[in-house]
Amino acid sequence: MPAICTVCSKGAILKRPKTGNALCKECFFHAFEEEIHHTIVHAELFKRNETIAIGASGGKDSTVLAYVLKLLNDRHDYGVNLVLLSVDEGITGYRDDSLETVKRNQEQYGLPLKIISYEELYGWTMDAIVKQIGLKNNCTFCGVFRRQALDRGALMLKVDKIATGHNADDIAETVIMNVLRGDIGRLRRCTAITTGTDGALPRCKPFKYTYEKEIVMYAYFKKLDYFSTECIYSPNAYRGFARAYIKDVEKIRPSAIIDIIHSGESLSVKKDIRLPVQGVCERCGYISSNAVCKACVMLEGLNKGLPRLGIGKTHKERRKMQEMLQQETGAADSTPCTDQSLKSSCKCENKTDQSECSSQTYDSDNASGCSTYSKSQKCKDGCSSTNPRTVAKEKLSIFGKLKQPPSIDF
Ligand code: SF4
Ligand code: ZN
Repeated sequence: MPAICTVCSKGAILKRPKTGNALCKECFFHAFEEEIHHTIVHAELFKRNETIAIGASGGKDSTVLAYVLKLLNDRHDYGVNLVLLSVDEGITGYRDDSLETVKRNQEQYGLPLKIISYEELYGWTMDAIVKQIGLKNNCTFCGVFRRQALDRGALMLKVDKIATGHNADDIAETVIMNVLRGDIGRLRRCTAITTGTDGALPRCKPFKYTYEKEIVMYAYFKKLDYFSTECIYSPNAYRGFARAYIKDVEKIRPSAIIDIIHSGESLSVKKDIRLPVQGVCERCGYISSNAVCKACVMLEGLNKGLPRLGIGKTHKERRKMQEMLQQETGAADSTPCTDQSLKSSCKCENKTDQSECSSQTYDSDNASGCSTYSKSQKCKDGCSSTNPRTVAKEKLSIFGKLKQPPSIDF
């Protein structure tokens, strides 16, 4: 006997992976879209008159995201402006083709599109990076660069927020990966539906509770135009194992994906666990928990022919980077501070003449004091601040030190 839709009693054509319900096409579309609407409203992802950049890669997730956000914006009158923002990593035979899909989506959905490339931002394409570093750590470079590229593109577009197509499976995988790595800082953040509210632009994930299988079904039944080829440089073995594990447990218990996300949300971090303090990169102004952000360390490594600089142990990277910075700015003067009047207000241990120091690196364990000073220019805060990181953050508008490409108005 043909299956009956559990909502309208017409003939069912699919079984929902998330609930196991038999549904007809129209009832599946409605359930899929309204669940995402509920997520958006419940988490207050958008405010009227905001401009939202949709991170668009041409793949199934971002294509469905663009389609559904446009549909829900019209249906429920969110009153937001939507734009597509794509990052061109410079991967011949993969990204060039998927960007053609995004360009067609731009026409199909009537949304403005901005493409920002690694080449224009960093002077490197992924093709060139892989030539230098090989296929082992390429995704580490690509991931760090992409995150920053999306923020920069979004700032050029003057948007209020970025929406990404991360789905429930992606988030469950990330929870498992962070548990396996013991990465408490990331574990705490990775289930948040909105991140980045304290630094760069906020990012949100309207598909946080949407199953990957349902996104594929939706794209298939709606006949959406998306690109399904895998990246040619895609080893990412670690995520691959987490993905295979999630797919296995989903077969036994479909709710496992949501259960893992809920487990991640419920984990609490002991008070005495030290978490990274967020500041800004002293080179490019991007948010960073170290003096120099990961992207700048990686870029420096590539430019100096030392690509391992960005993928080695963090403390070694920082030491090497610090040496390079000192070579650029002149050797740091580490003569002990003699100005006792300032010593009481600044907790640095090895101060030089406080009226002249400039090149500051902050001690991440002690957000209220700096640890190293050089003598080359006038001190930016006179070491009188009780929280130099805050002062630095105010002074450096994000990416303020970089050449700003022209902003774009739609
Ligand atoms: Fe970049 Fe790796 Fe993704 Fe390819 S698979 S786009 S190299 S992160
Ligand atoms: Zn930086």
